[in-house]
Amino acid sequence: MECLGLGARNSAAMTVSFCPLLRSRRFMLTRKPALFRRCSLFRHLVHVRASTGRESCVAVDLKEGFADEEDYIKAGGSELFFVQMQQKKSMEKQSKLADKLPAISRGENVLDLVVIGCGPAGLALAAESAKLGLKVGLIGPDLPFTNNYGVWQDEFKDLGLEGCIEHVWQDTIVYIDDNDPIMIGRSYGRVSRHLLHEELVRRCVESGVSYLSSRVERIVETTNGHSLVACEHNVVVPCRIATVASGAASGKLLQYEVGGPKVSVQTAYGVEVEVENNPYDPSLMVFMDYRDYSKQKTPCVEAEYPTFLYAMPMSPTRVFFEETCLASKDAMPFGLLKKKLLSRLQTMGIRIISTYEEEWSYIPVGGSLPNTEQKNLAFGAAASMVHPATGYSVVRSLSEAPRYASVIATILRRSYSEEAMTHKEFNENISTQAWNSLWPQERKRQRAFFLFGLALILQLDIEGIRSFFHTFFRLPNWMWQGFLGSSLSSADLVLFAFYMFVIAPNDLRKCLIRHLFSDPTGATMIRTYLTL
Ligand SMILES: Cc1cc2nc3c(=O)[nH]c(=O)nc-3n(C[C@H](O)[C@H](O)[C@H](O)COP(=O)(O)OP(=O)(O)OC[C@H]3O[C@@H](n4cnc5c(N)ncnc54)[C@H](O)[C@@H]3O)c2cc1C
Repeated sequence: MECLGLGARNSAAMTVSFCPLLRSRRFMLTRKPALFRRCSLFRHLVHVRASTGRESCVAVDLKEGFADEEDYIKAGGSELFFVQMQQKKSMEKQSKLADKLPAISRGENVLDLVVIGCGPAGLALAAESAKLGLKVGLIGPDLPFTNNYGVWQDEFKDLGLEGCIEHVWQDTIVYIDDNDPIMIGRSYGRVSRHLLHEELVRRCVESGVSYLSSRVERIVETTNGHSLVACEHNVVVPCRIATVASGAASGKLLQYEVGGPKVSVQTAYGVEVEVENNPYDPSLMVFMDYRDYSKQKTPCVEAEYPTFLYAMPMSPTRVFFEETCLASKDAMPFGLLKKKLLSRLQTMGIRIISTYEEEWSYIPVGGSLPNTEQKNLAFGAAASMVHPATGYSVVRSLSEAPRYASVIATILRRSYSEEAMTHKEFNENISTQAWNSLWPQERKRQRAFFLFGLALILQLDIEGIRSFFHTFFRLPNWMWQGFLGSSLSSADLVLFAFYMFVIAPNDLRKCLIRHLFSDPTGATMIRTYLTL
């Protein structure tokens, strides 16, 4: 075993205790749709077509690499192949981290902080922590940013990242049905994944972050209070604290609360295309188009699972179209989304001339929070920071990175001076304080509210969704804008719920009451609100 940062002699002298990472989960029954279903028992069902033409289903144990079924679903589940295609896209314009950042040294010193994962959350946290004088190592595969991120322009401006937006629409539009569309009154931007990557890497370079290109296999706690980050090829990096920012599927490195809500998934299939007959105004970003494009009189299976179109017209003829399923208990397959998108475009008379890029967007939403009693910390999607009702997390991660880094730096510095503290006390202290700053009770209340909203959305059919959004956009602007921008406090959210209830049509009111008293997320929300 190669030990970076500490001499092999030192590492051999340490006593090592492994944290148990696998845990039992309560499996809940979910409505099983006919088209796509979650495979249970952490096994994968493979359809086999015999030479006779008959199809059968064979259960295959999943490959190693996931902590449990929930972790597998967060990683991509039945859509894993497409998720990996999305992650492996080549982006020649983006620098390699290894070319820009110095390697984690083999010196005698233990790093203060190791950040695991080089997505937006990991890069931002590493840069902000190093800026505060901590010795920071970043570990993760040297991969580019491949996702097309969309943001409210003002939010990115506040982060000093306006220069990373490649296209701005002065306003954003929502179509719910054939009635008048709703103007959101807020400008929206498409992030240049290349510029955002360059900017975050530049911040890491400037602040002195060091780097190792590797996957982390586990984190081991030592008796002297340090952590050993075990990477591929038996490389071990010692540090005082490790923070996991390795995306939603981080169950091998983190423990999550047991018995919490199951994760749902937002899937979207997108294409950036050159087209003829684009009906959308290039000065407006289409946030949601829920109009019935098919006008089918007879109900079809696809109609049971509502999807909407998200469209970014880059020019009158070049458009990024994305057919999106806001959330479903079992991921809506990309194949079905693609079929719906192509049929929508065809029905609208939009003719595709050429395709620049396809996108497979798979975003786990909801699910449990990390267990806040563990020593290892987390950030970004790994720390359940994805907004359960919208799937967004990038702005939250980027804006919370400086404060979280400062909490970690303060605690680490204080621990130097509190020599009387035992290692156990130290670990409990540092981790609890950091976790509490990431997930204070106020944040937990907001999240419980959003999980309640998510569970409601999961139950609505297309008419229910339209009725929900009609009511939503009749709320005072500050309310629905605050909801979409995650800026409402838990008290504001209660007001939001009352307001919604008052102006909602009777069907939706009944649905809200039934949902509050029958869905487990209703009881959890009330309990979380009452906990001080
Ligand atoms: C196509 C797509 C579009 C999206 N669009 C938006 C959007 O517009 N706005 C928004 O807010 N959100 C969006 N999201 C959702 C979410 O915000 C993103 O997934 C975001 O990238 C999460 O950031 P992160 O840094 O927490 O995790 P990730 O971006 O997932 O980064 C995790 C990193 O950890 C690395 N890693 C994984 N395992 C290990 C390991 N064992 N050891 C070391 N490293 C590891 C991975 O290689 C990866 O680089 C989108 C997601 C997708 C897939």
